[in-house]
Amino acid sequence: MELAIRADGLRKTYGDVVALDGLSFEVDRGEFFGLLGPNGAGKTTFINILVGLVRKSGGTAEVFGYDVEAEYREARDRIGLAPQEFNVDRFFPIHEVLEHKAGYHGVSPAEAERRAAEALKTVGIWEKRDTRFDWLSGGMKRRFLLARALVTDPELLILDEPTAGVDVQLRRDLWRVIERLNAEGTTILLTTHYIEEAERLCDRVAIVDSGRIVEVATPDELRSRGTDEVFVTLAD
Ligand code: ATP
Repeated sequence: MELAIRADGLRKTYGDVVALDGLSFEVDRGEFFGLLGPNGAGKTTFINILVGLVRKSGGTAEVFGYDVEAEYREARDRIGLAPQEFNVDRFFPIHEVLEHKAGYHGVSPAEAERRAAEALKTVGIWEKRDTRFDWLSGGMKRRFLLARALVTDPELLILDEPTAGVDVQLRRDLWRVIERLNAEGTTILLTTHYIEEAERLCDRVAIVDSGRIVEVATPDELRSRGTDEVFVTLAD
């Protein structure tokens, strides 16, 4: 089985703070994999290393066999990221923002337009295509961030707490969209604080704490062990 992600002994320190302390795990191509852990566990730091925003202090990080630093372009071109914090161009209608992004990845203007339309339809905000990001509601912003991750047609989709603070209806909608993407073959790495979300969506879940993997388990294994008390549960 080809690996989508391989982390081996991955370390990241910020001065005296150890954000990743020898993180090791593997995600198979096509898998829906969850990273579950409390605030400050190191989940976002790990994602930032995968997409080249942060340099590792040691160890190995690969995406589809490509080293995320030595082979940055090959790795990055295969990843779509819906980040927790976002910075979106505010001066253009959202369909143009998506077209620009697809264009940076080297596709023709016609193909960029097609991909932007498809991504907006996939997440259900096609009718908002001429609106600027700032004018979208909070829920629509979330949908847009997912569309932006999809517009480069990624093999690995990384979702950093995609449903934090969203209402029940939107959470279910987003779940449906990402489940379908995974069924169509996209590998998914999802971080969440919600154990129910991880249990419902993921093939396997890694529990991260203090920059290390505490365990990797299937949702059934998690349920039977009753780890719930350690983590936040959904309010609804
Ligand atoms: P959350 O669930 O709150 O998003 P997380 O699991 O994503 O948390 P990280 O954001 O990766 O955790 O943070 C891991 C540790 O690294 C924390 O102690 C954090 O304070 C620290 N850290 C992260 N980024 C920096 C930075 N730029 N400078 C200093 N410390 C940092």
